Amino acid sequence: MLSNSLGLQANAKNLININTLDDLSLLEKLGDEEILILGAGTNVILGDYFNGTVIAVHLKGIEIRDDCISVGAGVDWADLIEYCLINKLYGIENLTHIPGSVGAAPVQNIGAYGVEISSFIDSVECFNLTKKKLETLNNHQCQFKYRESIFKLKDFVILKINFVFDKSFSPNLSYPSLNKFLNDHSIDVTSLTPRMLSDSVKNIRNSKLPDPKIEPNVGSIFKNPIVRSQDLDNEFLAGHRWDQVDGYTKLSSARLIELIEPELKIPDTLRLYENHSLVLINNGEASFDEVISVLNQIKSKIFKKFKIKLEIEPEIISS
Ligand SMILES: Cc1cc2nc3c(=O)[nH]c(=O)nc-3n(C[C@H](O)[C@H](O)[C@H](O)COP(=O)(O)OP(=O)(O)OC[C@H]3O[C@@H](n4cnc5c(N)ncnc54)[C@H](O)[C@@H]3O)c2cc1C
Repeated sequence: MLSNSLGLQANAKNLININTLDDLSLLEKLGDEEILILGAGTNVILGDYFNGTVIAVHLKGIEIRDDCISVGAGVDWADLIEYCLINKLYGIENLTHIPGSVGAAPVQNIGAYGVEISSFIDSVECFNLTKKKLETLNNHQCQFKYRESIFKLKDFVILKINFVFDKSFSPNLSYPSLNKFLNDHSIDVTSLTPRMLSDSVKNIRNSKLPDPKIEPNVGSIFKNPIVRSQDLDNEFLAGHRWDQVDGYTKLSSARLIELIEPELKIPDTLRLYENHSLVLINNGEASFDEVISVLNQIKSKIFKKFKIKLEIEPEIISS
């Protein structure tokens, strides 16, 4: 069984575990079979059977190397957050409580509350599956964008990530809901500590997002669409849109879904989370086909009504 936070039943033909760098010899022998690199499975929607080889990287360890902190892909993201808090390394407090492994973090350039991990990545050490050799990609070569990077091409097995964190604490409080939380809880920003910021983010997330261990889910099912501001009516999605640079606006997918939610036909095995319509929950025994059908319904209804194309955020593995 392949572990995945949506709780879908999934198996694969072959599995390669990378526990040490010596295990990379197994990757050198790979032929032209289908490959799936799997971390903790919190951002994938898996079909019943993967007719190929799954690669799971378990490299652990966090070490200081010159100005960088070098972290194994198999380290739990939560452990890296805690390591940074303890060791006075600053900048990623806003990314607290994102589930998954460190190795997957660059793949979709994880982001939350106004911070993206690409701002702290110096380089990524990986195994190039096409060239069958080790490579180190610098930040520029990773081609980071909103929820995007070169790693989505699937040519690279990420082994280690070299981070450069801030040495002084300069919190990013630009995100409205974070700002509101601090105000509502009378937290004075001048005396805010990294731990307080991290705990605040955790509290906000716990109030909005279901714990996948209790309510199986993959977090946000769609990216927030970014559209040309001139194509939008000024009042459209007021309070649920954010101006970007160069005349673009980011729209809340959650709000768009709320507007068409009554029209959706969702099977009993699934539901949209009551506190956040961007989260699809497996009530038990949902199938891959049911999940895909709900996602397609949402996409087509939103396109029909608003002419806005939603893009699914988790990766769909159908083979
Ligand atoms: C409740 C919940 C909340 C979430 N909130 C956020 C959020 O706020 N922001 C956000 O950005 N994401 C969020 N996510 C999505 C998810 O947590 C992140 O994308 C996370 O980085 C996925 O880690 P993973 O180890 O589970 O990766 P997986 O789901 O196993 O894999 C995700 C992708 O990364 C690839 N991959 C994994 N490991 C490697 C590797 N070593 N080398 C190369 N490719 C690899 C996989 O092939 C796949 O394409 C959330 C998910 C959940 C369930």
